[in-house]
Amino acid sequence: MKKITPQPGIMEIAPYEGGESRVEGVEDVLKLSSNENPFGPSPSVGAAIAGAAGQVHRYPNTDHAPLRQAIAEVHGLDAGRIICGVGSDEVLQFLCQAFAGPGDEVVHTEHGFAMYPILAHAVGATPVVARERERVTDVDALLAACTGRTRIVFVANPNNPTATMIGIDEVARLAEGLPEGAILVLDGAYAEFVDGYDGGAALVEARNNVFMTRTFSKLYGLGGLRIGWGYGPREIIDVLNRIRQPFNLSEIQMAAAMAAVRDRNWAGHCLAETARLRDRLAGQLAALGVPSDPSLTNFLLARFADRAEAEAADTHLKSQGVIVRRVAGYGLPECLRITVGDEAGCARVVEGIRSFREVRS
Ligand code: PMP
Repeated sequence: MKKITPQPGIMEIAPYEGGESRVEGVEDVLKLSSNENPFGPSPSVGAAIAGAAGQVHRYPNTDHAPLRQAIAEVHGLDAGRIICGVGSDEVLQFLCQAFAGPGDEVVHTEHGFAMYPILAHAVGATPVVARERERVTDVDALLAACTGRTRIVFVANPNNPTATMIGIDEVARLAEGLPEGAILVLDGAYAEFVDGYDGGAALVEARNNVFMTRTFSKLYGLGGLRIGWGYGPREIIDVLNRIRQPFNLSEIQMAAAMAAVRDRNWAGHCLAETARLRDRLAGQLAALGVPSDPSLTNFLLARFADRAEAEAADTHLKSQGVIVRRVAGYGLPECLRITVGDEAGCARVVEGIRSFREVRS
């Protein structure tokens, strides 16, 4: 019998590992491994979900018009150039499916989000890594990594797991220097956390080769519901809509997202608290000998002396019920990525690192 084989590239994929959420034998577990919002979604989300729950025997709206309208109003965008997906992951997937294939290259940064190479391999394209400079996206390295075969360049700005970002002038220089036919995908999963940053929306409007993705999973506290969106040139949106499944989002997802994006008070509260707690946590960890680059997101990339120390700190935190993320798979074995929790959550991290230092001294 002929062997059944998958499409080229698929067996190259190292499956994505989500943040852990359990520790054997520990009850009071604090999950700080997936950059979730510790305050949860807007209080209006529960009622919105309940309102939509009575209609689950009906297929959902296929064009997401009310949700796109809400996003457009809040962000000052054109609703006709928005596409919604099952998390921003799905929008990133549409881009790869539509624009890359065997023989094509998909460029991403050295410590870029794990889904970029996975999605590139899934369509048979070749992921190409561009070096970063001290954990910061390097536009010159990205441009040098591009060839005539480059179809997509993924840049998360701010980036996960480094928490750093580059300025919009640098992003514009990158877009300007891309080879013909290549798209710059600006992944704005953490864009909301940066005061005054539009995620690259103005650049999308000024050019035909820039696309922005955003999510409801981080600031809006809806990671469990899976809603994301993209903003791009009309021609690209038109292409992506041809491969999008007509019913990719349920009415429950859309109702929740609309309630979340319209509640500016809650978003503002979460932003202010996250920034306050993050900056304090960074200072406290630095005082304990664990530095991190200034973060523009809801997490810190904590740096230890070496891989052994990072792993020992992770093991110790786990024994205290605190789960953070190892990032050796991102080429950062000496680091741990720590989501900014609430007041009590941050205190547990500081206490965990303090007792780790004590045990080892
Ligand atoms: N991009 C980046 C940089 C991320 O960190 C994440 C979530 N970890 C995503 C995209 C995907 O988020 P979602 O699919 O939940 O929108």
